[in-house]
Amino acid sequence: MNQNSPIALVTGASQGIGRAIALKLHEAGRQVVAVARTASQLEELASLSGVFPITLDVTDARAVAEAVARVEFDLGPIDLLVNNAGISGSVGPTWLNTPGDWWRVFEVNVLGTFHCCHSVIPAMLSRGRGQIVNLASNAAFYRLDEEEDGPIFSAYMASKAAVIRFSEALAFELRESGVSVFAISPGMVKTEMTASIFSDLWNDPKIWAPPELAGNLIEFIASGAINELSGRYIHASSDDWKSFPKRTEEILVNDLNALRMTSMPKTQDS
Ligand code: NAD
Repeated sequence: MNQNSPIALVTGASQGIGRAIALKLHEAGRQVVAVARTASQLEELASLSGVFPITLDVTDARAVAEAVARVEFDLGPIDLLVNNAGISGSVGPTWLNTPGDWWRVFEVNVLGTFHCCHSVIPAMLSRGRGQIVNLASNAAFYRLDEEEDGPIFSAYMASKAAVIRFSEALAFELRESGVSVFAISPGMVKTEMTASIFSDLWNDPKIWAPPELAGNLIEFIASGAINELSGRYIHASSDDWKSFPKRTEEILVNDLNALRMTSMPKTQDS
């Protein structure tokens, strides 16, 4: 790795999936800017040469803008932004959430993602290249089924739907600019977030994906192999994404890997 290695900025990199993504991108030869709220948690990552820690809260627009400007001035252009920082909020009935707790999920998951995109895009546009990957989740759209009895966390579910739609809108705005945007799910990964919500599934080996998988998918996206699919949502463990370059047309023609409405067909007499 040298000073000309491409630069990736990963938010929420102090633990869990964000940490695994940062390590993967570092391993792949990138300079990694690891962003998180707690400096002490970033120490170990920061001990790797080529990993630069920045302590900030992604909901703080000014802190994000200053950090991006500092990185671009000190290190160089940010080629890849990974918006990974996220919180689940409370599980359980919405009416028992406080408005502040409920809204905080949107502030971190949606507004935080917006702040980072808003700060990196102008320089990406002026260079005519860049990639953005936003961490979403199947929680955005999976069917709520009384038999399944899964957790309901309305703020998280709605916020991840917003992340997927935001990513698609941004990708459309940026078409032909050289900047691509993807939403991904890392799959179900054992982390601090899932430990509390899915403790009953903890010992079921069929459910869990390794934390490295999201990093592998992001490195694949960063290679430019599927730039034509900018705006799509990709699931790290249930999509066969390595085959996507060969199946680009099939995905676009059939409008796959996108959040869409399926309506009742019209009746003959309507
Ligand atoms: P985690 O709780 O282990 O880690 C979240 C990270 O985000 C931490 O580093 C935390 O400090 C950081 N963070 C939270 N709020 C922040 C803020 N305001 N500013 C800066 N950093 C902040 O969670 P995880 O499971 O590793 O989740 C990472 C991402 O993956 C999240 O966006 C989550 O929604 C998404 N995701 C996770 C799973 C899963 O199974 N774990 C599934 C689907 C999507």
